[in-house]
Amino acid sequence: MGQLHTYDEVLSLLLQNLPSPARERVPLEACAGRVLATAVEADLDLPPFDRGVMDGFAVRSADVQSVPCRLRVVGDVAAGDSAEISVGLKEAVRIMTGAPLPRGADAVQMVEKTVQVGAGLVEILEPVLSGENVARRASEVQKGTIVLRPGQRLSSSKIGVLAAFGQHTVEVFRPPRAVIIPTGTELVDVREIPGPGEIRNSNAYMLKAQCAALGVDADVTQPLGDDRERTAAVFEEFRSVDLLIFSGGVSMGDRDYVHMVIKDSDARVVFHKAAIKPGKPILFARRANQVILGLPGNPVSSFVTFELFVRPAARVLSGWEQGGLPRVTARLEAAVRHKPGRLFFQPASLRFEGPGFAVTPIETKGSADMVAFCEANSLLIVPAEVTHLEVGRTVEVMLLETFWEEGFENEVYAS
Ligand code: AMP
Ligand code: MG
Repeated sequence: MGQLHTYDEVLSLLLQNLPSPARERVPLEACAGRVLATAVEADLDLPPFDRGVMDGFAVRSADVQSVPCRLRVVGDVAAGDSAEISVGLKEAVRIMTGAPLPRGADAVQMVEKTVQVGAGLVEILEPVLSGENVARRASEVQKGTIVLRPGQRLSSSKIGVLAAFGQHTVEVFRPPRAVIIPTGTELVDVREIPGPGEIRNSNAYMLKAQCAALGVDADVTQPLGDDRERTAAVFEEFRSVDLLIFSGGVSMGDRDYVHMVIKDSDARVVFHKAAIKPGKPILFARRANQVILGLPGNPVSSFVTFELFVRPAARVLSGWEQGGLPRVTARLEAAVRHKPGRLFFQPASLRFEGPGFAVTPIETKGSADMVAFCEANSLLIVPAEVTHLEVGRTVEVMLLETFWEEGFENEVYAS
């Protein structure tokens, strides 16, 4: 066996060998979490008109430079009105937040800095600058500007932007159809009590949940026994699925048939194995437009290789801008020992400890120890050739989704 590919090498092989997704048009209300397939242009200026941003009085700023001064109130204008009214010399118009600025006026003085004096008169207590408390037409966005790019996933705030520009139907990418195939003669259903040598098929549920978190709906097949003919038949059966994910059967054991079947087929193996821990047996193949990922069966390895490989692949297949897990640097809180050779993704607990992050490795009993692993909110990256990392060092850490799910103590910032 030759030198294993590094993580960077296999990741770029993966990203260079992915097909692009199809598009479809869907109603705006069905767009949350979908990925935009076209650029979106502003169909109007924002704000669409000069707009008052305070409740108060629309004035000519030149009239109120020496204060206090009295102005004649010639009308009022509220949000939704069209500003027919105009402000002349020594005049003011009562204005509500969101209302169009009357002609002649160039500023708004907030109501708190005025006093109503008798009928139809207001006293302005402080001067205003021209443009103060006014949002000018097109000051946020000019008609024709690109406001959203293809490849952006539609978060709630982006849905708001689509709506503001009248995009009641939206061209988005069609997410991949995924199928998860758990393999292993030892697997039993989660409802069963495992007999001698058997284990529950936990990966089926875990991987489906990982897909769902990426907006990918995955079907899960019945677990496949370690049987070469049957594996070949099932591999053939699922030829038309966009994303095929195997769990188990890609290691070097005599009964690990998944990689053998794929290598014997018309699929093209792009890589098998990488210098990473966990996840060394990771396999990636293409068959026409189908993407095939074979993950090692140990639960921690399955989870981590999903995040390292299926995540970026599923993003590209969904049209979503390329991206793996976000990374930060952090101060190491406990020493890490490492046998050199493979890039090590050490499960860890990351927390914010101003002004930066602090990270503590989580001890696990290896790649099957899902119970210890599930407390991790991050993966500490231990470079392949390092033998140990001492306390206090700055290390790189990948954030897992569990990191975002944790609550932080509410902090009160001094203003
Ligand atoms: P494999 O990658 O097929 O050699 O599997 C390695 C180990 O992972 C097996 O011995 C099982 O203990 C475990 N394993 C495999 N598949 C699953 C699964 N679907 N759910 C939970 N554990 C699994
Ligand atoms: Mg197996």
